[in-house]
Amino acid sequence: MTATQTNLPIDARRIAEIVKGLARITEPDRPYTRRAFTPLFLEGRAFLEEHFRAAGLDTRIDAAGNLIGRRKGRKPALGTIMLGSHSDTVPEGGRFDGIAGVAAALEVARSLADAGIELDHDLEIVDFLAEEVSIFGVSCVGSRGMAGLIPDGWLSRTHDELTLRQGIVEAGGDPSRLPSLKRSDIKAFLELHIEQGPVLEAERLDIGVVTAISGITRIEIIVEGQADHAGTTPMGRRRDALVAASRLVLEIEKLGFAHAAGEGHFTATVGEFEIEPNAANVVPSRARLLIDARAELRSQMEVFISDIEALAARIAEETGVAITPPKVISDNHPTPGDPWVLATLEAACGRVGARHRLMASGAGHDTAWMGRITKAAMIFIPCRDGRSHAPEEWAENDDIALGAAVLFEAVRRLDGQLQEKT
Ligand SMILES: [Zn+2]
Repeated sequence: MTATQTNLPIDARRIAEIVKGLARITEPDRPYTRRAFTPLFLEGRAFLEEHFRAAGLDTRIDAAGNLIGRRKGRKPALGTIMLGSHSDTVPEGGRFDGIAGVAAALEVARSLADAGIELDHDLEIVDFLAEEVSIFGVSCVGSRGMAGLIPDGWLSRTHDELTLRQGIVEAGGDPSRLPSLKRSDIKAFLELHIEQGPVLEAERLDIGVVTAISGITRIEIIVEGQADHAGTTPMGRRRDALVAASRLVLEIEKLGFAHAAGEGHFTATVGEFEIEPNAANVVPSRARLLIDARAELRSQMEVFISDIEALAARIAEETGVAITPPKVISDNHPTPGDPWVLATLEAACGRVGARHRLMASGAGHDTAWMGRITKAAMIFIPCRDGRSHAPEEWAENDDIALGAAVLFEAVRRLDGQLQEKT
């Protein structure tokens, strides 16, 4: 089914106009690049703001630098339903990651207006600041800000003599008001995003209703061998850090497969690997591995961490090379989608005629932070070959539009049911 086949009041052409308009605002030699805190990002923001205003939204930038368009409800005391995503990209990224969600959210607001539907709640459309890892090395700045969860010290991070604090000011925010930004009026938050994986396309489904955003744990392992002459040290008398580290990598992959065969989404990747002295004629003396592990279920991550500790001890013993106990460098817990909002999204899929499945997200999203302050959930739409964070990233406009129709339907249901719930 496509949006053009339904009778829902979503105008797919307007979604395409936003996506194409933002795609034109890119570093010309490096499509599609519109990183947060750059002049191009602000140009993209100006484009969006113009469209927010043209849609009749009351538009502002909050203290954390998020662009927000508000459509007033009949009973503002009920609070706010919020929809949105992000318009920044990674370097040489795609046209749809984040952008599809902002365009779909805006289209919901316009379609409600076109249909003459007034909601009881205020409806806010948001473009979060700096969802991707930014020039300051940190991500989800805007959504963390809205949740009151920007870590101490972040504002003084610098890049080319610019601080994050100044960057937020340049985006129109006001860091001095961040401590009081944490929103308590948002009653529900929904985000549409491209899947960034191959599942929906392979299964010919329209929508993934996201049960959880996986937690991400990074674990560092240091292997300490001994540097020796590569030509004179007999094979049997070496303490080769790289050989031990290589065994670790292969065993970590096996553990990853074992956990992935379990109940929830799970991945494990050795994404950073360095050796010293990295010279042709020297037996490697040191290796450093950084594991990125992602789990939908916290209990599974805890088992994985202890599996890694046991693995490091075993390989140290078998190889005679010292391996420091694996060190957890960062540890973010999974964010489950709100069960009631998930049920509403599933019902909305049914109403719209979108074929859907439940699935977890392996990538991080603003929704993970919004989930700390409100009932939050997200939906995925298919993307070609699962490609993302690359210029080849592609989502069919009709697929975005059908996702927008699901949001439209979900917002109408939430508007009524949230009142019964409170
Ligand atoms: Zn994204």
